[in-house]
Amino acid sequence: MSGMYTVDGVNSVSIGAVEMLEVSPRDGLQNEKQAISTADKLALIGHAIAAGSRRIEVTSFVNPRAVPQMADAEDVCAGLPDRKDVTFIGLVMNQRGAERALATGRIDQLGAVSVATDTFAMRNQGQTSDGSVEAAKEIIALARQSGKTAQATIAASFGCPFEGEVAGDRVIAMATAIAEAGPVEIALADTIGVGNPAHVARLVERLRTELPNLPVRVHFHNTRGTGLANVWAAVQAGARTVDASLGGLGGCPFAPGAAGNVATEDVAYMLERAGIATGLDQPKLHAANRWLGEIMDRPLSAMAAKAGPFPAQQSEQTHEKEAV
Ligand code: ZN
Repeated sequence: MSGMYTVDGVNSVSIGAVEMLEVSPRDGLQNEKQAISTADKLALIGHAIAAGSRRIEVTSFVNPRAVPQMADAEDVCAGLPDRKDVTFIGLVMNQRGAERALATGRIDQLGAVSVATDTFAMRNQGQTSDGSVEAAKEIIALARQSGKTAQATIAASFGCPFEGEVAGDRVIAMATAIAEAGPVEIALADTIGVGNPAHVARLVERLRTELPNLPVRVHFHNTRGTGLANVWAAVQAGARTVDASLGGLGGCPFAPGAAGNVATEDVAYMLERAGIATGLDQPKLHAANRWLGEIMDRPLSAMAAKAGPFPAQQSEQTHEKEAV
């Protein structure tokens, strides 16, 4: 599996575009202590669509006692705009959640979560890692029976807050088992932000080799400052979709120390400047960032919107004035 970073490597010249998946309404907000109103969640979704997002994780159908911020899942769905060109995703952990999501009639795609270690799986969703694989397969089957699509995320793919190292063999075995149920993609998630670009490149490339027909999505938290490097490594290794959150919002209530998701603004800046299309409009992302900063009433971790766009060339006259 060497050669991925050669200068003239096929991978590095063939990437024209990646798909961005906006996760701020769910992963971004779920760890916020203050309740965010349904109206503000819908406004956030509206900002994301205006900026070009066409796949959005809008809520999760979990027990409101476990994640109070997501208690309005049905209300969020009822308020979603009528956009056939946008895929609205609802995260679900089990059959009950899947049935709730499908009953709204507004969720296009179910997102299932399997966890790579037993300890984290027990804390996150009260089942073993194998149990979480079986649950994901059931969820995918339910979605397909209802004429919807489904995808699955493997949480803690790069490290576990309780068990430490996670073997690549384990992640690949889980992905292979889940793939039997017919998901549209598998995501590798660095739930607690411990990943590094070399590990990311290895695992993405291995997944693509083992399951060549299944698109790979990636999900990174920037807990240790490696988020953007991990996105770059994943894209170079062939990941087709990148999760990101406006403002860099996000955390996991069950993952000690988990910081925000990689910021949509920052990922879009990096990829677009590198010649990889994201479908996102940067000035509109920055407008969304300013709106979000007011709603959250605190500084956001996203950096690109603070710094502004790539500088335009200044006129001669301006240069002279500045030189004086
Ligand atoms: Zn996450």
